[in-house]
Order: sequence, then structure tokens, then C-alpha cells
Amino acid sequence: MAVITFGGPARYVQGPGVLGRLGELTIDIGRRLLIVADADVLAILGPRLEAAVPDQAARILPLAGEVTAAAIADLAEAGRDFAADLVVGIGGGKALDAAKGAAKALKLGFVAAPSIASNDSPTARSMAIYDESHTLVAIDTLSESPRLVLADTEVIAAAPPRFLIAGIGDAIAKKFEAERAAADGSGNFFDGHASLTGLAIADACYRTLRAYGAAAVASARAHRTSTAFEAVVEANILMSGLAYETCGLSYAHAVVRGLSKARGAADTIHGVQVAYATLVQLALEDRDDDLIIDLMTFLRQVQLPVRLADLGMNDPSEAEIAEIGRLTGLGPAGGKIQVLKSAAEIAHAIRRIEALAG
Ligand SMILES: [Zn+2]
Repeated sequence: MAVITFGGPARYVQGPGVLGRLGELTIDIGRRLLIVADADVLAILGPRLEAAVPDQAARILPLAGEVTAAAIADLAEAGRDFAADLVVGIGGGKALDAAKGAAKALKLGFVAAPSIASNDSPTARSMAIYDESHTLVAIDTLSESPRLVLADTEVIAAAPPRFLIAGIGDAIAKKFEAERAAADGSGNFFDGHASLTGLAIADACYRTLRAYGAAAVASARAHRTSTAFEAVVEANILMSGLAYETCGLSYAHAVVRGLSKARGAADTIHGVQVAYATLVQLALEDRDDDLIIDLMTFLRQVQLPVRLADLGMNDPSEAEIAEIGRLTGLGPAGGKIQVLKSAAEIAHAIRRIEALAG
């Protein structure tokens, strides 16, 4: 039998204002905090952050540019000078990834405090490293999951609603990807296989988004938290992250490799691409039209794309669709996503989605 593995953050804390408890929640794991914060987030939250760690020493560094190897080396150097014993990332994807890089270089624990809920990365170990021209050069991985994920929903509700919507797109795929990866015998991101626990979380993630997604988006537009908003933040960050790391990914995230280089679509954020790619996965799995149309109805409700034109690719040509199919199969070396379909089959699935959406 395949060996199952399950992992995740040591603790997850979510609610309005919880960033104010950063000190109290980390006092047992760090006394000297290296805090890496997105520069624009720091401009708003700076004073609140300093007040949140009264009993610890903290060095707060803004991250303004790309997450490059050089930027991470500089942060690690500052952390060494400061004798930091814990690294905290605060912000969107970049500050969290840069802080993960510094934590890995310093062999210290990592705490994530996301300011948006646009994807699952706060709970996960992986980080994307770019060069100065924003070309992805590597995916690196922390040896340990975050010690703490602190999701302050007051902060997250203040962000533009498009981030929560993108997070729904990234999360809606997870049930289908988890089940596909398990059925295909693909590994998960802990070098094992999906547990029943992981699959149950992936299913709960999907059901939560379907039940609360539309109401949560309405809350996000009003910049207010609500029961639905809280539920969707938990699905976007915690359930989505646990599902992906402990069950694995599949076609939806593979198709994103093509979409992220496609005309128009390249300018949209990750979760928006994943939403459309989820439909392509269902077509690749030969699911019934009814199921695909049902998911399209939900995606339209929350303003996520159901055809390439919604991603900015008007009138896609055959060649453009074929290229998405080709890039879908090209994973990085050692990549964990199995692609058992040909480029032609993927292109065929895209054409089926385009026809159903029309
Ligand atoms: Zn994703």
C-alpha cells in the first residue's frame, strides 16, 4: 500500500484583529523577530505591528521589489545581524515568499500573516523565486511548515475584492485536483500519498466555497467581514493549502503553465487562471456537461472566468489553444504534477469549455 502523509502549519489563527496578537502568539517560539512586510502593507500596518510585539524585539524590513535570490540573501544577512530567532512574513505573496526564503537561509521557524486571501501559499512550504525581470527561476521549499498562520480578516477585508475572488479560483480546483492526483497515484508535496483526512478537507473546501462564495464576495466588496467571509477566507487559505500540500495537484495547475504565458491571460493573477483551468480539468476527465455548466454558473456568480475571452484572450486561434496544450505538459524538473494527457487532448478539452461557455 502507498504510504500516506499529512502535514500543515503548527497553528492557524483567523479572525478580525488577530494581527494584534502576533506577540502573544509567538512569545514561546521567538523573542527576536525578523519581520518582512510588503512595503505598501507596512505603510498602513506599521504602527499596529510595532504595538503587537511589546515583549519581543523586532526588526521590521519592507519588501518592495521582486523575490530574488539576492533580496533573500540581504534579508537573511539583516536577520543574522539582528540575531533573529523567528521570521515573520506579512503581506501578499511576495513578502511571504521572501520571508520564507530568509527563514530557510537562517534555519529558523516561519510565521505567515497574509494581508490578502488570493491563494493558498500562507499555509504551504513552497516559495517562488524570480529574477529582476519577473521570470520564475525556482520553486524552493521550507523544510518545516509554518509555525503559525495568522489570518487577520479585518486586514483581509480591507483589501480590494479581486484578491478574495482570485483565492476562490485557486481553492475551487483543489477537490478535483486532490481526487485526480489520488486516483492517478501522483504523490503529494510531503513525498507521500493523499490521506482520507486530506481528501475530506479538499471536499470541505469545495462545499464551503459553493455555500458561501457569493455572499463572501459581497462582503469583500463592502470591505466587511461576515460569517460567509470568514468561511471563505478559511477555505482559500487553510483548506486549500492543506488540500494541495497533502493530496497533490493535477490538471488545473498544469494548465496554468500554459495560461500564464497566453495572450491576455498572462496579465491575470494566479487564482483567476486556476478557475478557468479547473473547467479544463473537468473536460479532460470527460465529466458530464451538467457538472461543468453547474461550476460555470458558480464561477460567473463570483466573477471568475469561464472562457478564454474572460481572461483577456478574445477570439483565441487554434494555434494559441494548441500552445496552451503544449505548455501544460511541460513541468519543471522534479515537478509533482502528473500530466497523463497529450497536448492535443488538452487543446480538445479547452475547445469543449469554449463551446459550453458560448
Ligand atoms: Zn495555486
